Amino acid sequence: MSNPNSLKKSYALAIDIGGTKMAAAIVDTFGQQVTETTTESVPRDSNGMAHPEAIIQWIGAQLSVIEYPLEGIGLSLCGNVDEDTGFVPLSANLHWRQVPFGQMVASATSLPVMAATDVRMAALAEATWGVARGVDFFAWATIGTGFGGYLFLDGKLYRGFHGYAGNFGHNTWDEVNGVMCGCSKKGCVETFVSGPGIARAGQKIASSIESSLLSQQAKNKPMESRDVFMAANAGDSEAKTILENAQRLTAISLAGLVNILDLEMIVIGGGVASASPDYVEQISQLIPQYLMTEEAKRDLRVEKESFSNASLIGAAGDVFIKRGLLSLHERTQI
Ligand SMILES: [Zn+2]
Repeated sequence: MSNPNSLKKSYALAIDIGGTKMAAAIVDTFGQQVTETTTESVPRDSNGMAHPEAIIQWIGAQLSVIEYPLEGIGLSLCGNVDEDTGFVPLSANLHWRQVPFGQMVASATSLPVMAATDVRMAALAEATWGVARGVDFFAWATIGTGFGGYLFLDGKLYRGFHGYAGNFGHNTWDEVNGVMCGCSKKGCVETFVSGPGIARAGQKIASSIESSLLSQQAKNKPMESRDVFMAANAGDSEAKTILENAQRLTAISLAGLVNILDLEMIVIGGGVASASPDYVEQISQLIPQYLMTEEAKRDLRVEKESFSNASLIGAAGDVFIKRGLLSLHERTQI
C-alpha cells in the first residue's frame, strides 16, 4: 500500500459535460475537491447542437480564475470518446459527430488534456479513491436517464476492441413488447429500467387504472420517474410493482455480468439508484438468485457509488494517472 504522505499534492481542472449541464472543479491527487463546483447549462445552437467553441470559452473562463498550478485538464464527456486523441466520433446528447473536442481544448488552453466517456471517468474515480479501491474486478453501473456503465477487469479499466465496452443496458430484453431505444434497437434493458422507462410504465398505468395514484399525478403534466417513486412511497401498489419489475430486471442484467466476468463487486450510481434510500440494497438482495456459482453468491459485494459527481472527480484522476502522478496499483488512502 502506498504511503499517503509520500504522494505530492498536485491539481487538475476537472470538467464534466453532460447532456444538459456542464460542471468544473479543481481536484487534487487525493481525490479531494479543492474548489466549489461551477455549473452552467451546455450552450447549444438553434439546431440543439452543443457549441464546442462556447464550451471552450467557458473552460477558459474557469482557467482565468484558478490559483493552483495545474497538471492538466480532465474532460468527462457524455458520448463515445477516443481517449487516446480526445476525438468524439459520436455523442447523441450533444448532437456531435466527428468533433475533435479534446484536441480543440488542448490547443485553446495549451495544457495537457485527457478526455474520456463519463462512465469510464466514474469507474476510475471509484477505483482510485472510492469504494472499489483495491478491488481488481468490478463493474460500475449507472441507472438514470440511461442504464450502462464501465468495467474494471484484472486491475485495469476495460475499454474493449472499439472502446465501447460496458453498454450492458443495450442488451435486448423484450423485442416484441419493448419500445424503440435511443440506440435504434427495440426493447433494450435500458428502456425498462432507466428513469424514462419507469416513467413510461407509470404513464401506462395512469392511462389504464383510474384509481391509481399515478393516474392523479399524470393529470396536469407528463409522468416522471420521481412520480412513480412518490406514489410507491405513498403505498400505491401499481407504482411499487413498477419499481420491483425495474429492480428485478436490473438485478438479472447485473447478475449476467457477474456470471460472464466473475466480478468481485458492482458499484451502482445514478439518479434512479438514489431516488429511494433502499433502491440499491433491494437490487442487491435480488441478484444472488440469478448468479450461477456459490462463490459468487458468497463473495459478490454490491455497493452504492461513493461520489455524487464521480465522473467529474474521475476526470481529474485520469490526468494524474496518465501523467504518472498516481497509479491504479498504488491507489491513495484518504
Ligand atoms: Zn438500446
